[in-house]
Amino acid sequence: MKKIAVLPGDGIGTEIVAEAVKVLKALDLPLEMECALVGGAAYEAFGHPLPEATLKLAKQADAVLFGAVGDWKYDKLDRPLRPEQAILGLRKNLGLFANFRPAICYEQLVHASSLKPDLVAGLDILIIRELTGDIYFGQPRGRRIATDGHFPGAEEAFDTMRYSRPEIERIAHVAFQAAQKRSKRVTSVDKANVLETFQFWKDVVSEVGLQYPDVALDHMYVDNAAMQLVKEPKRFDVVVTGNMFGDILSDEASMLTGSIGMLPSASLNSAGQGLYEPSHGSAPDIAGKGIANPLATILSAAMMLRFSLNDEASALCIEAAVKKVLDQGLRTADIHSAGTTRVSTLEMGNAVVQAL
Ligand code: NAD
Repeated sequence: MKKIAVLPGDGIGTEIVAEAVKVLKALDLPLEMECALVGGAAYEAFGHPLPEATLKLAKQADAVLFGAVGDWKYDKLDRPLRPEQAILGLRKNLGLFANFRPAICYEQLVHASSLKPDLVAGLDILIIRELTGDIYFGQPRGRRIATDGHFPGAEEAFDTMRYSRPEIERIAHVAFQAAQKRSKRVTSVDKANVLETFQFWKDVVSEVGLQYPDVALDHMYVDNAAMQLVKEPKRFDVVVTGNMFGDILSDEASMLTGSIGMLPSASLNSAGQGLYEPSHGSAPDIAGKGIANPLATILSAAMMLRFSLNDEASALCIEAAVKKVLDQGLRTADIHSAGTTRVSTLEMGNAVVQAL
């Protein structure tokens, strides 16, 4: 029996995770699923976005299925108490260093993309973002002036960017090994022309690349990569990059596929334990309306079966069921277009179960 920690979180998190859980239950696998509060919901109940009991459950589980956290109403809270700190705390405590974000354009959704259909038809990119280093974990200066995250009257503020050799080496190995299972191409994205940290990144990735002679490696500056993603996205296969560039480029890539509501993600540690979540946030603007797209979360559950539970067959089953409901013309509001049938969050979940 495998144990799954189910952390729905805030906003649409509870609605979309309910549908993913429904799909997992329909597969009738030996899974024990246990729910806990996280984010704003946990702050309301326990005064902290990542309570001890939630963290303990996540650590003991084989995998974590996560919804989303956050709401504008928490913007005035001290930074450590804000809902988004829960996801950073989980990444840190579980040692999750590799974030996988596949951007796949389903043929049925080619017209939902903001790019021309011929640019995105057949698109299948895997962005691998390093999660534990970079400027997000540097030393911030300026925040000491005020605890609410703002610092009126200050003359400057800065954050330091750093990467260690082992951090770059382990993410590079992950990228090369992922490429070996795909088309054997890796693009490493950096800003080596301006930043010392990224010259170091480039050198270390190149060194690791020597151990994978079957994989072609190229390097690209992040500004060019941002441009190429909208100019000729299919030139990429596996893209590996640091924490901040990966954050930005993976959101950009998500829109190529039609909707952020379609994109799953996995964050893995070196033991294969992982946290699986949609690439989007808690969408407070549509929460409670029953219109959120649950497919990103359902596809995240498929990634969970593949990477942490070693059940490729069930993962493929879910992915095939998602394609089938799209073939049937069922669409939530975010991907709806003329000639298709608009369905609610719940109806989409039911349709995937039916297709299974
Ligand atoms: P968001 O991703 O929540 O929403 C952006 C836009 O996409 C909104 O218009 C929303 O309605 C739409 N959208 C998102 N998911 C959708 C879905 N499944 N179906 C249909 N439409 C969908 O980003 P935001 O509005 O910038 O942030 C909202 C809150 O989420 C903030 O508090 C932010 O900090 C938080 N957030 C959390 C995570 C996380 O939990 N990992 C990630 C990003 C943002």
